Amino acid sequence: MSELDVVEPEQEQEHPDELDPEVKARRDAALAHVRKLGDPVLRAKALRVERFDDLLQDEVQRMGALMDDALGVGLAATQVGVLHRLLVYRTDSEASLVALANPVIEWASEETEAADEGCLSLPGVHLEVTRPARVRVSAQDPAGEPVEIEAEGLEARVIQHEVDHLDGILILDRVSKEQRKQAMRELRQALSGRDA
Ligand code: ZN
Repeated sequence: MSELDVVEPEQEQEHPDELDPEVKARRDAALAHVRKLGDPVLRAKALRVERFDDLLQDEVQRMGALMDDALGVGLAATQVGVLHRLLVYRTDSEASLVALANPVIEWASEETEAADEGCLSLPGVHLEVTRPARVRVSAQDPAGEPVEIEAEGLEARVIQHEVDHLDGILILDRVSKEQRKQAMRELRQALSGRDA
């Protein structure tokens, strides 16, 4: 199972108390900064990054730290209320943070893959989402230099999930009506109870 914004869904879903208390406290604090479903910013289309200055570097660092604390593998700027076409991800805990500004999916494979995805903006929700298995993405790095990435597997999925966020699209929009209804029930439970 590959997961998106949320990296340890099983622990979170079935054994919420088994996270180390310090890790959990950090995670809860980070999640408090992430916009949740119902916040209109999640439905807005983010604007191009035009200035590659110190403020942008700070934004990338802040998003990376928040993503790590939240135990996520990806985060889009819109999820922290910034309408910038900027996303960060790290699909391998050993790897360094990848930050992409103005990402454009230039090519997607016809071959698709279905896998479970979670989202930091939809606590408690996990949905099976079908997406192209491979993508080629052009973007700019935080210094404004052009980059091109060919991705497959989890990396391809994370990039597509986060680019969707920049266009105001959520995983709820990528599944059937029945799956969406079930997800909304789970979301209400997660937001009303348990951890709150
Ligand atoms: Zn998400």
